[in-house]
Amino acid sequence: MKDRQPKLKDYLHDIQQCVKCGTCHAYCPVYDQERREPVVARGKMALAQTLLEGKTEIDERFMRNLSECLLCGSCSNKCPNKVPVEEIVAATRREIAAQKGLSLFGVGLTQVLRRPWLMKLGARFGHLFSAVLFRRIPQQSGLRLRFPAPYIRRDRTIPKVAPHFLRDSYPEFIPGAEDRPHVALFTGCMINFMFPQIGDAAIRLLKALKINIHIPKDQGCCGVPALSSGSGGTVTELAQRNFEALGRTKVDAVLTMCASCNFGLRSHLAKIGGEAGEELAGKVMDIHPFLIKYGIQEILAHTPAPAEVTRVTWHDPCHLRNIGVTAEPRALLRALPGIEFVEMPDADKCCGLGGTFSVYHYDLSLRIGAKKVDSIASTKAAVVATGCPGCMLQLQDSINHAGLNCRVCHSLELLDRALNLEQSE
Ligand code: SF4
Ligand code: SF4
Repeated sequence: MKDRQPKLKDYLHDIQQCVKCGTCHAYCPVYDQERREPVVARGKMALAQTLLEGKTEIDERFMRNLSECLLCGSCSNKCPNKVPVEEIVAATRREIAAQKGLSLFGVGLTQVLRRPWLMKLGARFGHLFSAVLFRRIPQQSGLRLRFPAPYIRRDRTIPKVAPHFLRDSYPEFIPGAEDRPHVALFTGCMINFMFPQIGDAAIRLLKALKINIHIPKDQGCCGVPALSSGSGGTVTELAQRNFEALGRTKVDAVLTMCASCNFGLRSHLAKIGGEAGEELAGKVMDIHPFLIKYGIQEILAHTPAPAEVTRVTWHDPCHLRNIGVTAEPRALLRALPGIEFVEMPDADKCCGLGGTFSVYHYDLSLRIGAKKVDSIASTKAAVVATGCPGCMLQLQDSINHAGLNCRVCHSLELLDRALNLEQSE
């Protein structure tokens, strides 16, 4: 499909809004590690501008500097001129791909993202041959490759592929009460194939609130991995697929359980399908505020506390922090019976995953993750909860590298467990 994403030249005015004040230096996790001007937002804006002005060429160094970005938005969040740095970096990557082609990894990734049947086949294969391909690591915290493979280091923690996939386990419509809202549940790839228990928990929580749930089977990837790799055509194709799947039924909200999916859906739906696309994008909502709005805290208030108290901390996924969803997950964790919530220092700092960033720059990604682990360790929490399966992967990998005894989970799993919904079904 034709790339309908904005071109780098469309951002010239935004790039010129960078007044080189340097505020972004204090917030960039990559600059924090590298201390090189070309990797911070100010440097990247200068590089993008020189490319547009024809004063530089795309060479290895240029590509490396642009690939060293987590698209975390920590810089644009604090930028006094609101320069949309992540959008500009993504547009520059599309320009690189247009001139130089996608990387080998990017080609493979987009082939899979564009073909849901291929993704499903790969997931089935990964599950069936799990014992041959992977070895288990302690505490059921994941798997490691037995054999060398391109782009995945053997000391990297890989999640298990689930024996059942989320969208296959439910009908496309689960009725609730007549006077309650209708929502479309966006599952995302990771929750569909690797963490279906998060989706199971979300569905049980929504059912407890008598919400009408639509789970379109033909929804696809949110497009963030394609955005990160520079494939604008794939982003457009996936946005079109999701626009058709999620827009088919009139719903009050499109709920996400993954912070990155929330970001991907909101930004990509808005650029496809005109007004209808913008309207649908406007309905995309993270599930935490939705659960609060429709009364989950009232149910929690009547839930008996278990004898044992677990200490839990929270990591803010960048794409929830950027839209201001920070108080709601904390409010829910604080309301959980049997949970002692403890705030970690720098909870809002990026964990270091950044989509394809951690594939190309694994060591750097681990160094950023190690800082996050220090913050987690200082809380002495037994569990770190978050709202993004991508962060869960990175946190578990970083925790395993540090040898910390702490479990990672999604906040929805804790809510579901506290309410004992699985048992009461
Ligand atoms: S904070 Fe914004 S305006 Fe200031 S240097 Fe960074 S990107 Fe430019
Ligand atoms: S998006 Fe994140 S990693 Fe990229 S320049 Fe901004 S702060 Fe740094």
